[in-house]
Amino acid sequence: MSDFDLDNYISNTKDFPKKGILFKDISPLLLNHHAMTKVIDIFATKALDLDVDLIAGIESRGFLFSTLLASRLGIGSLMIRKPGKLPGDLIEKSYSLEYGQSKLSIQKSKNIANKKVIIIDDLIATGGSLACAESLINKAKAKVIGCFVLIELLELNGSNLIDSNIFSIKKY
Ligand code: AMP
Repeated sequence: MSDFDLDNYISNTKDFPKKGILFKDISPLLLNHHAMTKVIDIFATKALDLDVDLIAGIESRGFLFSTLLASRLGIGSLMIRKPGKLPGDLIEKSYSLEYGQSKLSIQKSKNIANKKVIIIDDLIATGGSLACAESLINKAKAKVIGCFVLIELLELNGSNLIDSNIFSIKKY
């Protein structure tokens, strides 16, 4: 896979889930073991440069990559979840969507404070989800040392909302 191009494993669907959105679908990537391994190789190489302690995945497509990467690196992973999914004491934060509001949460844990964290999602569009996730990690007194995504949609300037560096495998 020396000539790996992520684009070969992403399909595009116009007007999904609503009119005007070009949906970038990672399903073909998930079907291909070699391509998935390559993606985790790329993320792991970058993560090793950063001296990371914990990988945080954003529900739900972030989870597909966060646990694989954490396992490869031999470290733990953290779930950043949508409302109503996590039990116990939570740290929560709302953020704006194109229409309305959403919320993300993490569980309070003494095993998060002071950790160096990489946050993962499949894609950054407006940056709202990753910015919210960054803020949750900060509230947990840990430090975000980078945000990893497979795909960055440049025209939406999502990186402007993110404090840490974004590492994306493919930019459109
Ligand atoms: P945002 O918070 O605007 O950066 O949106 C990021 C989240 O929405 C990610 O979890 C993506 O999975 C999803 N998303 C946004 N736009 C797209 C798109 N064009 N194709 C696929 N997923 C998208």
